[in-house]
Amino acid sequence: MSRPAPAIVILGNGSLATARRIQQLYPQALIYGLDGRVEAPDCTYSDFGATLRQLYQHDTPIIALCAAGIVIRTLAPLLLEKGAEPPVLAVAEDASAVVPLLGGLGGVNDMARAIAASLQVAAAITTSGELRFGTCLLNPPSGYALGDLETGKRFVSDLLAGESVRIEGDAPWLAGAQLPENPQARLAIHVSSAEREPAANELLIYPRNVVARVAAVVPAQAIREALHDMQLAWQSLACIVADDALMARPQLHEAAAELGVPLRFVSAGEQILPVVWHESGNGLLLGVAPAPLDPPLIGRPRGRLAVIGLGPGAAELMVPAVKAELARANDVLGYETYVRMAGPFRDDQVLHCTDNREEMQRARHAFELAAQGRSVVVVSSGDPGVFAMAAAVLEALHESGDAQWHSVDLEILPGVSASLATAAQAGAPLGHDFCVMSLSDNLKPWSIIEKRLDLAGEADLALAFYNPISRSRPWQLGVALEIVARHRSAETPVVLGRDIGRPGQTLRATTLGALTPDQVDMRTMVLIGSSTTCTFPRAGGGEWVYTPRWYGDKP
Ligand code: SAH
Repeated sequence: MSRPAPAIVILGNGSLATARRIQQLYPQALIYGLDGRVEAPDCTYSDFGATLRQLYQHDTPIIALCAAGIVIRTLAPLLLEKGAEPPVLAVAEDASAVVPLLGGLGGVNDMARAIAASLQVAAAITTSGELRFGTCLLNPPSGYALGDLETGKRFVSDLLAGESVRIEGDAPWLAGAQLPENPQARLAIHVSSAEREPAANELLIYPRNVVARVAAVVPAQAIREALHDMQLAWQSLACIVADDALMARPQLHEAAAELGVPLRFVSAGEQILPVVWHESGNGLLLGVAPAPLDPPLIGRPRGRLAVIGLGPGAAELMVPAVKAELARANDVLGYETYVRMAGPFRDDQVLHCTDNREEMQRARHAFELAAQGRSVVVVSSGDPGVFAMAAAVLEALHESGDAQWHSVDLEILPGVSASLATAAQAGAPLGHDFCVMSLSDNLKPWSIIEKRLDLAGEADLALAFYNPISRSRPWQLGVALEIVARHRSAETPVVLGRDIGRPGQTLRATTLGALTPDQVDMRTMVLIGSSTTCTFPRAGGGEWVYTPRWYGDKP
């Protein structure tokens, strides 16, 4: 499947000019700058090694503007692991050298040549086959699949040893290569979608020019059988095309994943050009095109809607699944502050910033976009299921009778909620049973809030207050504290976390007796201890606050 855009990683301002020149070649690439050393990069990092390894593991092509040795040493621990090998290049910060290091089969030499050409230097290509033939035979262009890598390596080494080669079939990308062609050669590059037994003297390359059209859920095996029945190689399958009505059927997605091809959807009568249809023995329709097919141009994909939690703010507290989701998003919806927090974004990503109050409208807009086949992200701060967008999105879906909305691939991805982020910084004030409440009476009557506060106070639960106060709700917090004080002593520990995980964060430990509403604003998390919550001094100043795990007599 397709790779993420490259990451251009730099250590200082000295590399910025070269990085920007490379970025012109890859407009979707992001420049990663070392925190505090680089002025206005697209994103910052603090740990070079961890950042590089993470990019590599996420299959992101890496263009590092630093010494080749540093890059090799940093990635060395990962090189023995099987799995993705994205292109990795070192580029001299003064733009004088471009060195492809890893990812020979991922097109690193092509990237090196393109970058070198734009910097007007020569790429340091060291791959013999490429030097001799001007192309990597084992890395055919997109739209074509290599038959077998091991046989292929042997084939290339025979060629390098001086043998000539003939080309059977249509291989337009080899027209510019310098191959020792000879119609009588023993070695042959065979390009065709016909099923063929591998032979040592043949390099098999399959054009991906076949679609399987399914009108019902079928297993991968049925598609393999249909291809075999028509004497078509499974490697030539470009995609599976199914009726829109089958969009939400998991077995079909499993079949596509098993065959390693995208799944696309069309309406019942929709044409797929320019294929010629054949019906196989088991009743499947296979369409064969004269040249490779580009699956993104066929029908639409199943749309995706992810409701994500950013965590409190700091990038380290964002879960990796959320980062990956942001990278694949076409559209990002949310309250402007949170959308900004979720960035940086690429030019091709569409941001839909809205007011904090328009939650249902935003949820419906998200489904409309996802139903068109787009990959949509709705952002919340903290966790999306805690006084945030996940419930609004589900409410919108529940109310809707639109089958297309219900077919969307909907997923909720969790985040670190403000109460947990604040508690962690203070120690463990929520270390025993606790109760989470929003003090906002915008969506519920104040009387129910009072009742719950009273009962939670009586039950001796530690309390976490979200939305404790706002300009339009100035008196409620005072009343809430009075209710709690009926059940708790004035010495009860209280933690106030403001902008936790964001610039300028503050954390204060105080007591219920000393707490007044003017110490709290809408960006504050209020944690109130239970009767067992206690504090003791920290070596570095301030205090630890925790609620023991046990209750009653210490076990
Ligand atoms: N979904 C969010 C909560 C949204 S309600 C979450 O799980 O964290 C908004 C309230 O959360 C704010 O009024 C404030 O009380 C609290 N809050 C959100 N982010 C915060 C942060 N970084 N620091 C302290 N409190 C925060």
